[in-house]
Amino acid sequence: RAKDEGGGRHCLYEPSLHAHAEERRKLEFSLRHALERNEFSLMFQPVVDATTEEVQSFEALLRWNSVEHGFVSPVKFIPLAEDTRLIVPIGEWVLRMACLEAMNWPEHVKIAVNVSGEQLLDPYFAETVVGALTSSGLSPHRLEIEVTESIFVRDGTTAQLTLENLMGIGCGVALDDFGTGYSSLGYLRKMRFSTIKVDRSFVQGAAKDNPESLAIVRAVVAMADALEMSTTAEGVETEDELACIRRLGCKKIQGYFFGRPMNSIDALALFGKTAFRERQSA
Ligand code: C2E
Ligand code: MG
Ligand code: MG
Ligand code: MG
Repeated sequence: RAKDEGGGRHCLYEPSLHAHAEERRKLEFSLRHALERNEFSLMFQPVVDATTEEVQSFEALLRWNSVEHGFVSPVKFIPLAEDTRLIVPIGEWVLRMACLEAMNWPEHVKIAVNVSGEQLLDPYFAETVVGALTSSGLSPHRLEIEVTESIFVRDGTTAQLTLENLMGIGCGVALDDFGTGYSSLGYLRKMRFSTIKVDRSFVQGAAKDNPESLAIVRAVVAMADALEMSTTAEGVETEDELACIRRLGCKKIQGYFFGRPMNSIDALALFGKTAFRERQSA
């Protein structure tokens, strides 16, 4: 009987596993051709100063509109690009486009680019960054590289050395999604990040008076202040969340409240107006 059940289970599960693998294979096939087919684009999400509400930087967020699959979320295709190492050429494209775009903005406005561990372990990564900077003419001080704690798990030393090289030429490095990964204070001692980005889950929890979230955001801000690192609150969607995050002392704010990821034309248009918040509600 048990054996029968086992057999039945096997029959039930295998097709769905198979379908999943098949879906992944198709996605991977399309991803391999996405660059040459010009299917990628960048969106830019503003990060504003918590006090002045002025745009301090934009985060470049990759979008893929596939002929076969339509719009695919980065949450789905970035892990696939990492597994296949396609993230190396795709990431180079992102860096080049992001630096070029930032050249259209006022000089104090920075561009933040997400970088995966696989990219950091590529021996040519630093050259790729320098290439994107020199060919666009962007000052290294205007580029901030966003990494997550996961880069320290596999060959952490190589990743750290590469990032330190880039910091040496003036680039900033932000620690993204802080609190969701392998959060260890050791990472903060190892590297002088320019910014710690507090993950959306804590921001939204704190605004709902969740005591753990409140304590964590408070502690991260205090720690960042002491280490002379800046802080960005991710995922601020409402006036209440904004008020809460301000009280907690985060330096910068990113989220739908101030602006969703937007195309380059809309990003540029933000500088044509004086009061940023007025434009959002107009
Ligand atoms: P991330 O770096 O943490 O980027 C922030 C994500 O939160 C973005 O999702 C953004 O659209 C979303 N977001 C921003 N504000 C709000 C808000 O107020 N509420 C909510 N609910 N969401 C908000 P997106 O664009 O889907 O990107 C997801 C992730 O994909 C990014 O998370 C990043 O890890 C990765 N990613 C995106 N572009 C690139 C890239 O060029 N290279 C690499 N390696 N990873 C990328
Ligand atoms: Mg990011
Ligand atoms: Mg993030
Ligand atoms: Mg996040």
